[in-house]
Amino acid sequence: MSVSRTGPLPVGSGAEYDVVVVGAGVVGSAIARTLARHPLRVALVDAANDVGDGTSKANTAILHTGFDATPGTLEARLVREGHRLLSAYARETGIPVEPVGALLVAWDEQQRAALPRLAEKAARNGHHATRMLTAAELRSREPHLGPGALAALEVPGEAVICPWTTTLAYATQAVRSGVDLHLDCRVEKVRPGDPYHRLVTRRGVLRARHLVNACGLHADAFDALVGREDFTVTPRRGQLLVFDKFARDLVRHILLPVPGPLGKGVLVAPTVYGNVMLGPTAEDLTDKTATGTTAEGLAGLREQGGRILPALLDEEVTAVYAGLRAATGQEDYRIAAHPALRYVTVGGIRSTGLTASLAIAEHVRGLLADCGLDPGPERPPARVRMPNLGEAFPRPYRDARLIARDPEFGEIVCHCERVTRGEIRAALASTIPPGGLDGLRRRTRARGGRCQGNHCGAEVRALFEEYGEGAR
Ligand SMILES: Cc1cc2nc3c(=O)[nH]c(=O)nc-3n(C[C@H](O)[C@H](O)[C@H](O)COP(=O)(O)OP(=O)(O)OC[C@H]3O[C@@H](n4cnc5c(N)ncnc54)[C@H](O)[C@@H]3O)c2cc1C
Repeated sequence: MSVSRTGPLPVGSGAEYDVVVVGAGVVGSAIARTLARHPLRVALVDAANDVGDGTSKANTAILHTGFDATPGTLEARLVREGHRLLSAYARETGIPVEPVGALLVAWDEQQRAALPRLAEKAARNGHHATRMLTAAELRSREPHLGPGALAALEVPGEAVICPWTTTLAYATQAVRSGVDLHLDCRVEKVRPGDPYHRLVTRRGVLRARHLVNACGLHADAFDALVGREDFTVTPRRGQLLVFDKFARDLVRHILLPVPGPLGKGVLVAPTVYGNVMLGPTAEDLTDKTATGTTAEGLAGLREQGGRILPALLDEEVTAVYAGLRAATGQEDYRIAAHPALRYVTVGGIRSTGLTASLAIAEHVRGLLADCGLDPGPERPPARVRMPNLGEAFPRPYRDARLIARDPEFGEIVCHCERVTRGEIRAALASTIPPGGLDGLRRRTRARGGRCQGNHCGAEVRALFEEYGEGAR
């Protein structure tokens, strides 16, 4: 078990891995955690200096039921199963989840006519609890909804979740169960071989009997490194607006549009941090680094948001961001085993990978067995209890017993998000400490509030420099 960001990789005997998982997003981290339940030597590597630093840090954070997936696809099965697995895992490890439910709102006759078909589709996906709401019922549920909403389909079970804690919980459990995590470690070349593949990284060479490609947007490029060209990833950008916490009382459910040809469409949803989110856009691009927002994209979102929830536009925007979905031109995941190469590709994990992550990991374990991996007996993983970032659950600054034990948990540093010195120090000393201030924000919410660190930024930076990895 180790976490490294600098220096050469281990060499010599004992430095060979049974499995190397490339990509420490939510999917790769889930796979590493699942493999860590077996007596295997596993490495999880990422080009970035933190886990969950790609698409996994910038999504809409919904734990989908999979009610609207295309029935019969692998995605439909893994999202449904992933919802069940992640709901249970979140309870066990303390990942904040709020099962607020979703309302699929019809704004015109065509959309209203589509609702019964969506209810049937949900039933084919195993969700029989959906229910039609009249305009009056809808309005009593969501009194701030804009004029013109005709009806809705209620989808119980849809929930909001903390995506940052999810990836971190998987990776933490993987590392504590024996996985080596190598960060800042881009794999640049692969020399397939027997019994070991050689992975040339910017920090040295890794040897792996089996290889898993969980490279997200770059899954096609990684496939090419091992000599495969099965699909191309097109980045589909989703821009989002985050509204200040004063907006939270305006919305009770996840408000979904009736889906269109480019996906799930623009939604309004509460976040577990007590904000309200509006987005995402869906723009097919060519640049896999284009995670900036655009004035045009944000203006379009405001226009649509104003129709859904007019009062939302009176509230202040705390943050804007964009994430890139890994679209591949196929309405399903691109997960495939290549037994001759002892290699599994986990590509095309588009807009549901957070939800499906644990089910994808189980599926990949089976595919690795098809590639000749004998995982050996299963054992219980190391226990993990994550710090709570959710507003619906007790936060440290309100926990008198914790503060009595350690007064630094009563010392607020980030006043917008009420993050204490104790939480920041604990994150900096955790199993996978953050590699920078953004990573610290994803672990604590420090600098993530309405002032975006204007007030607390200097103090947070000073703590990072005093207690962070660089200081050791
Ligand atoms: C706008 C938007 C909204 C979404 N909303 C939801 C939602 O509400 N619910 C949901 O379930 N899902 C949602 N998703 C989808 C979800 O976020 C993704 O499916 C998921 O994050 C994909 O995870 P990943 O691990 O495959 O990819 P990533 O998180 O991108 O991880 C891939 C990792 O591979 C690394 N990597 C790439 N190439 C190399 C290399 N050569 N060497 C080493 N490392 C490499 C990268 O650095 C990166 O960290 C949304 C996505 C977007 C963009």
